[in-house]
Parts: sequence; structure tokens; C-alpha cells
Amino acid sequence: MSEVTQKKRVAIFGSTGSIGTQALEVISSHPELFDVEILTAHSNDELLVSQALKFNPNAIVITDESKYDKVKDALSSTSIKVFAGEKALEEVADFDTYDVMLAGIVGFAGLKPTMKAVSNGKMVALANKETLVVAGEIVMQTALENRAPIIPVDSEHSAIFQCLVGEARNPIEKIILTASGGPFLGKKPNFLVNVKRDHALQHPNWSMGAKITIDSATLMNKGLEMIEAKWLFNLKPDQIEVVIHPQSIIHSMVQFQDGSIKAQMGIPDMKLPIQYALSFPNRIKNEFTRMSFKKYPTLTFEEPDYKTFRNLGLASEALQKGGNMACVLNAANEIAVWAFLKNRIGFLDITAVVEKTMEKISFIQKPTLKDYFESDGEARTFAASLLQF
Ligand code: NAD
Ligand code: MG
Repeated sequence: MSEVTQKKRVAIFGSTGSIGTQALEVISSHPELFDVEILTAHSNDELLVSQALKFNPNAIVITDESKYDKVKDALSSTSIKVFAGEKALEEVADFDTYDVMLAGIVGFAGLKPTMKAVSNGKMVALANKETLVVAGEIVMQTALENRAPIIPVDSEHSAIFQCLVGEARNPIEKIILTASGGPFLGKKPNFLVNVKRDHALQHPNWSMGAKITIDSATLMNKGLEMIEAKWLFNLKPDQIEVVIHPQSIIHSMVQFQDGSIKAQMGIPDMKLPIQYALSFPNRIKNEFTRMSFKKYPTLTFEEPDYKTFRNLGLASEALQKGGNMACVLNAANEIAVWAFLKNRIGFLDITAVVEKTMEKISFIQKPTLKDYFESDGEARTFAASLLQF
């Protein structure tokens, strides 16, 4: 007897980005399993319109309001509902017509719609790590109270999540987060001081959006991922270890109380963790490139260079301190990365902006969601005032 399965209705927040477009690739390979219900984009109206025409969602949002008329006109022959502005993200996140949100917006902007989904008990496939970095405690608590499953999309966290399937009763001794080391692995400050935007945008193993590519080059990405892991897996800071693994074949590992270590491996391809998060708890057959150990005869591991890549130390400090510290770190980093991408500051200045902002903004031990918004705003204003290098 053939089983009739209900299609999962997916809301893709950030559909025009690296994660969003790859999620749509996964979905178009499995039209029998998924329907696109919502698409959102910030400013790339042309791509959003072509995605809407192809996937025929119920609703779309363009957050840049100046593009609304253009998008609306382009879709006038369809019944797709078109919304504009930041507030609309929360409004569509509040719809009850989708089953899973793919949270693929970059940065702090992803927090509010994701909170809305979690408050409504929706399943969230979470790529937007900044949401947990900023307000992990509140997001996870809200998810728990509303029984909203959060399935990680970030490759390291997906790896850990996959290693934990079937291990619910077994405490984690520690996790080992692997890091490629980025394009400047082995380099020293006298080299980094001259690094320019276009060089930093070349990642050796992954093709990603601009912000996370710079975060990977500065190792802030791994710092953010330590904090993300703390909240996702309820860990203490000393249970989180970072190891440099330049081949990016082992996506991360879990060590259990008996010393046994589980790893999840494969060719670096974000479509796999995206697909796993959308299809969890099932695995779907696909044609992605298979890993061959003969092509990778050597997998290597080394200690991160904390002296050169000081962002890792700053993120560890934020992880240890808790409260609003990671929110402040994240806000300053978003401003600094933006300034670096505009060629306004140098590569090493990114760390300086984050460090000074962390020293300046008042510490709050137990922030409310409102406190996080305020700390984010204060940190951004202060970080922006430092940009006159
Ligand atoms: P991206 O820059 O390629 O895409 C970002 C998406 O968010 C776009 O659709 C854009 O329109 C939208 N967006 C940007 N600013 C916005 C705003 N202010 N308001 C509303 N929407 C906005 O980024 P990406 O590389 O796809 O990354 C998305 C998230 O996933 C990030 O948090 C990143 O850390 C995480 N992530 C990405 C990868 C990857 O391979 N790209 C891997 C792991 C985690
Ligand atoms: Mg990652």
C-alpha cells in the first residue's frame, strides 16, 4: 500500500541568500515532499520575483520598502500576497499556514521573525546563528515552552545534532567544533594588517554570503558557533573545544562520557545540512557528491592560533560572561564587518572595534528581550563611532 505523506510547507526567510537559494535547490529536487509557502528577501527584488514565479508561494516579503511597487507589479498576474518592510517579516512569521521556517536571514535582523515562529511552536531549521548568539537563553526557553523544535542548519551544529540522534540519555562530555581556519590559516598579524576585502572573501572550502565569509576569515564565525552550540546543546563553556581541521571533512564531533567520539563527515556542501533539517527525522536520497577517503588520504588537526585570531578569545570571553555580552559582541562585529566590506577599516580593526565595544557597553547579567534590543542598539552606535580609523 502506498503511503500518502503530507507535504511540508516551508517558509524561507532570506530566500535570496546563499542558504536560501540552496534550500530552494533542495526543495525543487523534492517537489513530492515540500511546498514553498513564504519567501522573504531584503533588497534583491529580481531574484525574489523569479523565485516567486517558480515556486508560487502564498506570500512574500521584500523588506526594502522602496522595492514594493516593482515587486507587486511583477507579480500582478498571480495571487501571491506581497508585503514590504521589516515589520512584515514578523507578520508572515505569525501565519499558521507553514510547517517549518528555514531561518536564513543574516544577522540580528533574523531574531524577531524567528522568535515569532518559536513562540508559535513552529519547527525552525536554523541557519541564522546570530539569533542564538544574541538571545540564546530566551529563544531556547521560548522554544521549550512552546514545544518548537529547533533543528540546526549550521554544518557543525548539524553534525553534532546528527551524532546525538539515539543518544538522548547519554550526557555529552564535550563537543569538538571543527574550523577550516579560513583563507588566512597560518598567517600572522603583519600579513593580516594589509588584507583587503576581496582577498578575505575567498574561502577555501565553502561558498557563502559575504558576512559569514569575513567571519570565517577572522575566526569570529567559530566564536559565534561556540555560543550557538552552548544554547543548542545546553553546554558549559568548558565542554566546547575548537580544533582547526583545514580539509572541512569532519563537520564536528561529540565525545561521550565513556570517551567514545562520534563524528559526522562528508564533502563540504551546505545542501546536506539544509536537507537534513528540512527532512528530519528522515534522510532523503540525493545525488550530492560522495566523499572518498582515497581523495582525502590525510585529515589534519591543529590548535587555533588564539594570539593572531583574537576574535576567538573575545567570543570565549562573551561565552564565559553570559548576560548581554554576546549580544554586544555580535552587534559590534556586524558593524565592523560591514565597515570592512565597504573598505572603511582594515582587517585587524574588526577585532579592535569588537573589543572596545565589549569594554564600553554596560553589562547586564539577566537581560530581557527588550534589554537585548537596547544593548544591540547601543553597541551598534558605539561601534559606528569608532569607525574613524
Ligand atoms: P546571505 O548574505 O547570502 O543572505 C542573507 C539573506 O538574508 C538574503 O536573502 C537577504 O535578502 C536577507 N537579509 C539580509 N539582511 C536582511 C535584513 N536586514 N532584513 C531582512 N532580510 C535580510 O547570507 P547567508 O550566507 O545565506 O547566511 C544566512 C545565515 O546563515 C547567516 O546567519 C549565516 O551565519 C548562516 N550560515 C550560512 C552558511 C552558508 O553557507 N552561507 C553556513 C552556515 C550558517
Ligand atoms: Mg558553520
